[in-house]
Amino acid sequence: MTDAPLKLFNSLTRSLEVFEPVHPGVPGDPASPPEARVYTCGPTVYNYQHIGNMRAYVFADTLGRALQWKGYRLTHVVNITDVGHLTSDADEGEDKMEKMAAREGKSAWDIARYYQADFEADLARLNVQPKQHPRATEYVAAMIDWGKSIADKHCYELDSGLYFDVSTVADYGRLARAQTDDGESRIGDVEGKRNAADFAIWRRTPPGETRQMEWDSPWGRGAPGWHLECSVMGEALLGFPFDIHTGGIDHREIHHPNEIAQNQAYCCTNGLDDPRNSGAKIWMHNNFLVERSGKMSKSSGEFLRLQLLVDRGYHPLAYRMMCLQAHYRSELEFSWEGLGAALTRLKRMVMAYQNAKAKAEGVWIARALPEQLEKLRIAFDAAIAEDLNTPEALVVLEQVLSLKKVDSSAIVAWATAFDSVLGLGLADLTRADLRLRPKAATITEVEIEAALARRKEARAAKDFAASDAIRDELAGQGVEVMDGDPLGWEWKLS
Ligand code: AMP
Ligand code: ZN
Repeated sequence: MTDAPLKLFNSLTRSLEVFEPVHPGVPGDPASPPEARVYTCGPTVYNYQHIGNMRAYVFADTLGRALQWKGYRLTHVVNITDVGHLTSDADEGEDKMEKMAAREGKSAWDIARYYQADFEADLARLNVQPKQHPRATEYVAAMIDWGKSIADKHCYELDSGLYFDVSTVADYGRLARAQTDDGESRIGDVEGKRNAADFAIWRRTPPGETRQMEWDSPWGRGAPGWHLECSVMGEALLGFPFDIHTGGIDHREIHHPNEIAQNQAYCCTNGLDDPRNSGAKIWMHNNFLVERSGKMSKSSGEFLRLQLLVDRGYHPLAYRMMCLQAHYRSELEFSWEGLGAALTRLKRMVMAYQNAKAKAEGVWIARALPEQLEKLRIAFDAAIAEDLNTPEALVVLEQVLSLKKVDSSAIVAWATAFDSVLGLGLADLTRADLRLRPKAATITEVEIEAALARRKEARAAKDFAASDAIRDELAGQGVEVMDGDPLGWEWKLS
């Protein structure tokens, strides 16, 4: 299956690199296949995730699927940040978890469990394959041990806790292409820090205060700094160096440079000319989903979360399609029209897949592929191998689905194989699944069908006035009648 070598863009070197696994396995021994170990920074579970966050996990999932397509056995960790970190990236400001707990009148622990479950439900709705989800609160003892091992050489204490001195490691900030001492002023910065970029390894609870989530440590009662957990869980579950570390592009600036500095300190490795000294061989970042009206911000009342899309009648996988239509390193602008177009594209694919399945006689038995299909298989593999070019891969999938004079069972088999990378779930979807009733709709599906049946009778009797009246009546209730729709839809909710 391995045709084109898999090339991935490493943010650390800012270049495309051929993926060479840390654990190549034993060639020819099916019991020791080559492995790929991936760590993805997960959510802080103090609130629902917005669809921008979910783009990061759709990207990481597609990466994992591509590695499997290339024959690697995948171990993929997405951590759950259930210790409240603070409201800025620099890990300063208020504790998000405790703030939400106070607002909702629940414990911080309940808040974390609730939003983790909601996050996992969203992942499933987007066909994200199951992954390991370690919780930060389960690794606090390991974080304290890590802190102890680096404290002497790399840290200093202030009243507010233990801080990492970024000048003690070589090449600090290379990932962000930033200077250590860029004079950048940070909101709510801590007095006494040696360098502007120094960050907390341990945050001591201020005297006279108690937090719901706090632990004893050699640096007083308090909580770990946010950056520490990913270093610790990455090392514990995947071992250094592991293959790939991913996150959203914002993490390239502060969170990941800080993780890298901690890893260098812990492993006693020095400069980053050898990327493995950072803890991972390749660092990958997805660009942002943007939305101009500010509906992505969790502080705005109704923000863009997957459930809102569903409430408006868009199947969650239309959002996955929308993500795949853009390259992960490009910014993607959200619009309802764009989401509608992605849904229509998905519907077409589902219908073509179903048609091929209906025509297929039996299951495709692996044998020499028809020439057209072999060409498309190579094209698909090349697209994915070129830093996950999913927009191109989707086009190739569509070409497979529209092949003429090719055994339908081969089309079904290869469309299914390609979809194992894209994750649209074509084999399990039907046209009907994709038609969701918006929450605000007042008319039921049965009523719509009944009205359409009456309209059909009126038209058959050439009573066009009655037929138009029914059409207008439906329009008044938000239902658009779709005469002559190429996909064969009779109506949609407008
Ligand atoms: P957070 O819970 O804020 O750490 O975010 C979870 C993940 O979503 C991180 O990998 C972020 O980099 C990523 N992320 C946040 N906002 C967006 C966005 N608008 N588009 C894409 N990814 C995002
Ligand atoms: Zn992280």
